[in-house]
Amino acid sequence: MKPKVAFFSFTSCEGCQLALLECENELLDILGAIDVVKFREAMSETSDEYDIAFIEGSISTPHDEEKIKKIRDTAKVIVEFGACAATGGLNAMRNSMGTEEDHYEELREKVYGPVGVEHFRSTKARPVHAVVPVELTIPGCPVDRGHLLEVIEAVLVGRSPRQFDHPLCVECKLNDTVCVVEAYGQMCMGPVTRAGCDSICPNVGDACEGCRGLLPSGNFAAHQQMLEEHGNSKEEIRLRYLMFNAYPCEELEVPLP
Ligand code: SF4
Ligand code: SF4
Ligand code: SF4
Repeated sequence: MKPKVAFFSFTSCEGCQLALLECENELLDILGAIDVVKFREAMSETSDEYDIAFIEGSISTPHDEEKIKKIRDTAKVIVEFGACAATGGLNAMRNSMGTEEDHYEELREKVYGPVGVEHFRSTKARPVHAVVPVELTIPGCPVDRGHLLEVIEAVLVGRSPRQFDHPLCVECKLNDTVCVVEAYGQMCMGPVTRAGCDSICPNVGDACEGCRGLLPSGNFAAHQQMLEEHGNSKEEIRLRYLMFNAYPCEELEVPLP
């Protein structure tokens, strides 16, 4: 019997689900191996019986929290995919602006206006694993398609997918990519960011913004000092860290300038 798979979207732009739909060459093979029972972006049929749940988006409202706990009660395997789900992503930037519930409400009203619906109440934005245990994580904004396909295959055959516990700079060196810090003084997060995207941004001359999350073993003080020595202000460095990594900074107690 094929495993029943459901895709869920929480607080996100749904770009990571699109990344999967864009795997046109592999999609038919995937669909041959699984029974998709829920995928709002791709189909209207839906079922609450599933074995594997792919979760996109951060947990950012009381309604999100209630819903993810119900999914955890049903799914044998949960895969959090995309930066929003894996690290809180861009959504967690608001966590660094204050911690009171009133503050989140104030921010929500600034963005959406006075929407009085209960499930729109905002809370701290958290990755999925901060609320329920998860089996697998695929970071990135959006997810790297190769990594996503590899994890899907690993789940289906019951093996562990590759772990990326080394910094992005390693991929840059393997690709013989010119370092954008050394060459152009750009503010690159590569030395403290989890590899796995094949250094896609530096390969085209752009600094890494850290969308795959911070490496717990990163030397954050040395990295920040290096960025400062290349002409970036303390405030610019602080904001770069908070862009994709506000929640990991808090989780790992990373000192910020
Ligand atoms: S990780 Fe990025 S692309 Fe994926 S849902 Fe979040 S904001 Fe969108
Ligand atoms: S461009 Fe960034 S990721 Fe690549 S080597 Fe330089 S600092 Fe590291
Ligand atoms: S280079 Fe950095 S910002 Fe670009 S995709 Fe990779 S981890 Fe994300």
